[in-house]
Amino acid sequence: MARYRGPVCRLCRREGQKLYLKGEKCFSQKCPVDIRPYAPGQHGQNRKKLSEYGLQLREKQKAKRIYGVLETQFANYFKKADRIPGITGENLLRLLEMRLDNVVYRLGYGRSRTEARQVVRHNHILVNGKKVNIPSYEVKVGDVIEIKEDSRNLERFKEIVETTSSRIVPEWLEADKDNLSGKVISLPNRDQIDTDVQETLIVELYSK
Ligand code: SF4
Repeated sequence: MARYRGPVCRLCRREGQKLYLKGEKCFSQKCPVDIRPYAPGQHGQNRKKLSEYGLQLREKQKAKRIYGVLETQFANYFKKADRIPGITGENLLRLLEMRLDNVVYRLGYGRSRTEARQVVRHNHILVNGKKVNIPSYEVKVGDVIEIKEDSRNLERFKEIVETTSSRIVPEWLEADKDNLSGKVISLPNRDQIDTDVQETLIVELYSK
């Protein structure tokens, strides 16, 4: 599946907030959102007030960028969320959270979602003992996710775990950092998803 390959800090500046796409840099003084807190480009400092549609569109763009999902795939997530019983916006966020790359990130085995995605793509991950290298793979309650044995001693994972050691693993997941593994305990509730997105605006956008 394709993904955005351009400069990611530009995306944060476009949204006017940190989307945490870069790992450590996001928490450092080098974060461009802190240095240049306005949109990129020639007219970036002349931002106009957004219309209702503009706000809805920006919220969708933001969610896509946070989870590293392109337009068509995002629209498919929305369709699926709409078919599932319950609140569509919450279903949408839940589906995005249950992506394997996001779960690897949430467990602390990727400093950013981009890195977690690369970890999955590079065949470091087992789900219930089987190799899975599809970042969009949808995990289920009870699934056990682990870094495969011959990757566990790589310097890279030592560094990743050290960097993410202070990160709080959400309640719907259980991490075993000693064994570089984790388990999906339950489906995430909305209040267990700390993503700064107003999903109702996205639902309004797709409902037009
Ligand atoms: Fe966004 Fe992180 Fe880049 Fe800051 S450093 S602009 S939060 S990706």
